[in-house]
Amino acid sequence: MRNKIPQQPAKERVKNFFEVALGFSKSEAEEEARRCLQCKDPACVKGCPVEIDIPAFIKLIKDGKQKEALEKLKEKNNLPGICGRVCPQEDQCEAVCVLNKKKIPVNIGALERYAADYELAHSSKLIAHRKELRAKSQEPRAKIAVVGSGPAGLTCAADLARMGYEVTLFESLHLPGGVLMYGIPEFRLPKKIVQNEVDYIKGLGVDIKTDTLIGNTYSIDDLFSRGSGIPPPATAGSRKMREEAGKEEFKAIFIATGAGLPQFLGIAGENLDRVYSANEFLTRVNLMKAYKFPEYATPVNIGKKIAVIGGGNVALDSTRVALRLGKRAVLVYRRTEKEMPGRIEEIDNAKAEGVIFKFLTQPVKIIGDEKGFVKALECIKMELGEPDASGRRRPLPIKDSNFVLDVDTVIVAIGQNPNPLLPKVTPSLKTNEDGTIWVDKNFMTSIPGVFAGGDIITGADTVISAMGAGKKAALAINKYIKGQALTQSEDVSSTNRKGVPKI
Ligand code: FAD
Repeated sequence: MRNKIPQQPAKERVKNFFEVALGFSKSEAEEEARRCLQCKDPACVKGCPVEIDIPAFIKLIKDGKQKEALEKLKEKNNLPGICGRVCPQEDQCEAVCVLNKKKIPVNIGALERYAADYELAHSSKLIAHRKELRAKSQEPRAKIAVVGSGPAGLTCAADLARMGYEVTLFESLHLPGGVLMYGIPEFRLPKKIVQNEVDYIKGLGVDIKTDTLIGNTYSIDDLFSRGSGIPPPATAGSRKMREEAGKEEFKAIFIATGAGLPQFLGIAGENLDRVYSANEFLTRVNLMKAYKFPEYATPVNIGKKIAVIGGGNVALDSTRVALRLGKRAVLVYRRTEKEMPGRIEEIDNAKAEGVIFKFLTQPVKIIGDEKGFVKALECIKMELGEPDASGRRRPLPIKDSNFVLDVDTVIVAIGQNPNPLLPKVTPSLKTNEDGTIWVDKNFMTSIPGVFAGGDIITGADTVISAMGAGKKAALAINKYIKGQALTQSEDVSSTNRKGVPKI
């Protein structure tokens, strides 16, 4: 039987922000690892966007070699603790596992997490390993700028640093990590896990500059012409070499600014007090610790009865955060559970914790009180028609079926658009109709030497696909710098972009 990962009981966890999943013990992990058939031509590796050698790391776990398993993972994946927790393995490596024919694939995600957590417990011992990796790249090479520190930017920066480049990663917020830090809640992805993997990447020599908004603090032209004047990290090469490198401009730029622009419904009442985008709500609670107000300075002014609109991971996270703040949470979704884009595991978790689901329900108006606060949400019932462009059955309103939901706060989680700032201030940076940045088959944008990847080229997608783009872009940047011909085999052009289904 497939070993399930132990969890905090639903009644307990809903009162705290600690991690829901507790992780495998050594014996549970080794038992689960023994289930892997060690296929000669493993489909799971092809199912992984960063092509981890899955059978190899699982075999090392089976043999009791957790540290070696972690090192095997890190050959391809700089963020295994994160991926082990939030990757949709059920749609990727586990979906194609041979044992999935009987619906009992190896629990690859839980094993990845088990191996990755070795680093948290033994980080001092692993510093030597990082030094070894850095030592291989002592010769300072060209300087590369990476813009945005989500999974795409972190992955690209780490891979380029391993190749010996001087990488500076610019992040507009005060902490690196992107959505991993400010979007996904603590109870699914603890901040210390993200911080630990960011520290690993810093250990490879990547210089991270937070509170720096590219497009505002520095333009793309500034990065090319004066390298922002920022000295390089004190990790590679002699002092003289570092000083020389510090004067150089950046030779290539990777844009990974994500899809952080919230979408709204466009219905009456969206300007009322206590209407939030999920983005603002989650950022206040996660990154600014609003749940600890007044100990932390950022309040989150919500009522007692919260309606969250949407059906993806972002909507599920918002309802579960609301429950942990002691509120009643209703998830309002216009299709049925079957069409929800959120992870099945998280839908089940939300149900167990007490989220109320209102399926086939579409909001039509947010009703306010005389002081301008949310008083209720008017909705209409829906039914499913023929499939639409996303392949799912289209929701259609049922005439005269309007009803009112008694809520005092509305959180809108119906999707995010690409971050518009850089294209807006950089006219030569071509975009697609949906605001994503246009890239060619090598992740190069319309500006030579400027590459892009992650949600900014696909629209809101997944952590692992952002990482996959970061990896491929790092290879393309290396070839570009060396003046080698770029391969045309990998088609990532705008016609082949595949975001997650829209809400
Ligand atoms: P991001 O993670 O968005 O990072 C972009 C970074 O760029 C941000 O830190 C931003 O501050 C910075 N930035 C933007 N503009 C600038 C600028 N001009 N200058 C400097 N910095 C800038 N995916 C999963 O696989 N599993 C999940 O369970 C999951 N849950 C999710 C839950 C939530 C609440 C959200 C919002 C998303 C979730 N996702 C999940 C999606 C996943 O997090 C994203 O697909 C992924 O983070 C995209 O990575 P990225 O590197 O492209 O961008």
